[in-house]
Amino acid sequence: MRPLQSAEGVGLKCGMPLKRHYETAKSQVLVAHGWLEGLNMISSVGFFNPWGRKRNLCFVLSLVVFLLPASCTNQSNNYTRLLTFRKKCAEILGSRSGAILAMNPRNGLVLALVNEKLGVQSSTRPGSTFKIVTALTLLKNGIVTPTDQFVCNGQVEIRGKIHRCWLREGHGEQNLLQAIANSCNAYFYQAGESMPAEALQTAARQFHLGECTGINLAGEDCGEAPEWFSPEEKIHFIVGQARALAVTPMQMLRLIAAIANGGSLYRPFYPTSQREFKKFRSEVVEMIHFGDELRIIKEGMRQSVAYGTSVGAKLVNLIVAGKTGTASEYFGTKTDAWFVGFAPFEKPEIAIVVFLENGRGASDAAPLAKEVLNSYFRLR
Ligand SMILES: [Zn+2]
Repeated sequence: MRPLQSAEGVGLKCGMPLKRHYETAKSQVLVAHGWLEGLNMISSVGFFNPWGRKRNLCFVLSLVVFLLPASCTNQSNNYTRLLTFRKKCAEILGSRSGAILAMNPRNGLVLALVNEKLGVQSSTRPGSTFKIVTALTLLKNGIVTPTDQFVCNGQVEIRGKIHRCWLREGHGEQNLLQAIANSCNAYFYQAGESMPAEALQTAARQFHLGECTGINLAGEDCGEAPEWFSPEEKIHFIVGQARALAVTPMQMLRLIAAIANGGSLYRPFYPTSQREFKKFRSEVVEMIHFGDELRIIKEGMRQSVAYGTSVGAKLVNLIVAGKTGTASEYFGTKTDAWFVGFAPFEKPEIAIVVFLENGRGASDAAPLAKEVLNSYFRLR
């Protein structure tokens, strides 16, 4: 297994996975040792010993000659594969107005960034992808348990006002896992009604929403996280539609990478040359401490791809976790499509975000995510 990543972060030398490196080194050291032993035997039976003091030097040189080219050729191949992956991502996005982003969740290295303008330099509503943050908050604060159910009849009345679920006929009884998988608004409206708004604000701040990610690119939009909002606005906040909530796809990428890796929020780094790729050193901005709620949210995301709104991103031989979003724009009636996710489920090595202007999460963003993931795992 050779994930697309740079040297630092997971114990690599010149881009080679540690285990592989040790295996290579072990076999090469054995070969070098065999040579030396042979030479030693020859020299010990004669009167003339040409190797004597030079033996140690010879041994060291053998190691250098054998080990360095192997690992550094691998580094070069890694970068070449990275460029091929980026090209594939650009082809997948095609002429659509949107952005495709991918990150190594183990170290914050940005593997792909197609359309920097929409990916980093502009922010908008996250829509239902934000339900990941809401669900974490609900569990962490003991407002719901994973088995608590709420009924979705297609709409729900909260303080005298009707709020609709996206599925007109309703989802019926839903627990948290089903609500994440089906992206049921009615569940979240009802479950979130008794949640203090401050708890959700704290969670958003924990993921550093409303702050720049500090990526090594100019013109980053820092987005916006609400400082204060009315009870009415809280309803919209719960499902990622608050007026004062705006995120960039890059902010969502590192958020989803933190979900995938267990809580490390990285400063994203986008290498634009092999030199930068080689010099990359990961930087954890925040270590978020999750309890059991993380496992439950990830399971909900797995189910979303298995049978829910994210099913368009399902792969044949690999388990993917994800969440879709269809966010209303600030003005007008158009919607933006989101997909955030990671794979493989058990041991994530890629986190991705697909964002499309004028589209829907399930039907537009998720199928593109599938293509991106397929490309990645084919190249790996
Ligand atoms: Zn529903």
